[in-house]
Amino acid sequence: MGYIGNTGKPQTLCPRCGKVMPMRDFTPRHPYKCFGCGAWYKYRLKAHAYFSDRYGKWVSWGDGYPSDGATGAHDLYSLSWQVHDVLCDRGEWDDCTPLTNWQASMTLHDILLHEGHRLLAVLWMRATLWFGGGKARDNGMFWLTAEAKERYGLE
Ligand SMILES: [Zn+2]
Repeated sequence: MGYIGNTGKPQTLCPRCGKVMPMRDFTPRHPYKCFGCGAWYKYRLKAHAYFSDRYGKWVSWGDGYPSDGATGAHDLYSLSWQVHDVLCDRGEWDDCTPLTNWQASMTLHDILLHEGHRLLAVLWMRATLWFGGGKARDNGMFWLTAEAKERYGLE
């Protein structure tokens, strides 16, 4: 996908289709539609880099990253849904290796647990696994599909 981590420049591209989007704030009351792919975005995230101890991988994004709120946990201040949104948009870690839906959900789980949300960690891990996943889900639920392995040149 060619995403670089946090370059310090505001993210003005649609995470789904790469089309340029106006730099303005979105909120649930004032969402913004990408005219390239039709995706709706409700939030702009602040730049962050997160390292998963479980998987030994980084995921990061720049200021203003458009987020659609698909994880459904946005009323809680947490890094978990932000990381999950980005992982599902890309289906990749920063090093351009693919991840599965399970890995996206477990990463969300790890962050929630670290933040002290023991019950939500379990509930949202399951909810995102069953109903979410985006491109991570396309790569495979628990294991990479043969198609995903081929796409990434893995055997
Ligand atoms: Zn788009």
